[in-house]
Amino acid sequence: MDKQRDFVLRTIEERGVKFVRLWFTDVVGTLKSVAIAPAEVEGAFTEGIGFDGSAIEGLTRTYESDLLAYPDPTTFQTLPWRGDIDPTARMFCDITTPDGEPAVADPRNVLKRTLARAADRGFTFYTHPEIEFYLLKSSKFGPEGPQPVDSAGYFDNVPGGTAHDFRRRSVRMLEDLGISVEFSHHEAGPGQNEIDLRYADALTTADNIMTFRTVIKEVAIEQGVYATFMPKPFSQFPGSGMHTHLSLFEGDANAFYEAGSQYQLSKIGRHFIAGLLRHAHEISAVTNQFVNSYKRLWGGDEAPSFICWGHNNRSALVRVPLYKPNKGQSARVEYRAIDSAANPYLAFSLLLAAGMKGIEEEYELPAEAEDDVWALTDSERRALGYHPLPASLDHAIEYMENSELVAETLGEQVFNYVLANKRAEWRDYRTQVTPFELQRNLEIL
Ligand code: GLN
Ligand code: MG
Ligand code: MG
Ligand code: MG
Repeated sequence: MDKQRDFVLRTIEERGVKFVRLWFTDVVGTLKSVAIAPAEVEGAFTEGIGFDGSAIEGLTRTYESDLLAYPDPTTFQTLPWRGDIDPTARMFCDITTPDGEPAVADPRNVLKRTLARAADRGFTFYTHPEIEFYLLKSSKFGPEGPQPVDSAGYFDNVPGGTAHDFRRRSVRMLEDLGISVEFSHHEAGPGQNEIDLRYADALTTADNIMTFRTVIKEVAIEQGVYATFMPKPFSQFPGSGMHTHLSLFEGDANAFYEAGSQYQLSKIGRHFIAGLLRHAHEISAVTNQFVNSYKRLWGGDEAPSFICWGHNNRSALVRVPLYKPNKGQSARVEYRAIDSAANPYLAFSLLLAAGMKGIEEEYELPAEAEDDVWALTDSERRALGYHPLPASLDHAIEYMENSELVAETLGEQVFNYVLANKRAEWRDYRTQVTPFELQRNLEIL
């Protein structure tokens, strides 16, 4: 630890870093940043930097509003978009109370706690997100709605187009920040793109997703366009999902892999999937946290709507991807509901907790879905036991309210805060008279 701190202090000196930003995330997943002078960094490591937590979404109860941010030296990086003049660096922080206890409502702490529980049972949790987003001409729009930057589609190569340059520039910046990118391509919607981060332990990936969102927004501004991670900005085009590949390791061995079994999937892997399926509806208000998230889940276009698993079945909620023989280390399961606007710390905590519950309780894995589950009738789906995901945010809230798993994993304070925040969003939404109603009803009623 001290070595890492020394490295940070030396790098600041050598590169002439002028500002150090301390980053953390609030409960709804918004990145927060406070810049300190290089001279303050040493003290920040040992004593933390004090701030008023009461102004930050979900972070404190008002009677304990003083909090401290302790930068994590392993996350030190200089920010490439700030350029070489007055270099700026950042570190993610852990938040504590003034007496040094981890702040119960710090999402990074929720994930650390959940990872530690899995580690007690010998598991390390890895994630690999595929992040989709739209590039728009502007965040402002008129009656014709938001305007995508191009009209290209899935895997299209757009010579000289914004998207192409945009991805190259973003991938370069991510690599400069130590974030490895595995794939990047144009997605199915006009102006829609996808960038997939290489798998890493879940805390690193969650930090990387927060950095990713900032990088994408910065590059968009630089290129005179606007990037949005909104789950479903257009009713007529696909939404932006964040399919996440999950795996557990025991030491160096992938715990989901078993040579010779069906799909090379171990018993642990099967129980883990069963846990995801059993708890999917309870964790939905966190993996899909906005009113708008449910427009994606129920809008078709390869977003999952029903709770089932399948081998290479893109209509299933959980997919077991194909991988090459002798590639046992890459055994994994893909969770397809989570969207690009989720708080990655909280969402990964709940995905892990659901999977771990399946392992602990030895949940039995139901039969896989071989059909296109959207093409079945409701009664066929019922007969096969494919239950729907929550249809809207208020359904998701109801499931979450009754979930022991979610309450235990998030802790009482985050659990209550998320529920209060989501109930308020639903109340505001419920009172809206939408263009849909006006168009359908006004003239005929
Ligand atoms: N955009 C789709 C979703 O919302 C995913 C499309 C794909 O990557 N196959 O989940
Ligand atoms: Mg993909
Ligand atoms: Mg995709
Ligand atoms: Mg995918």
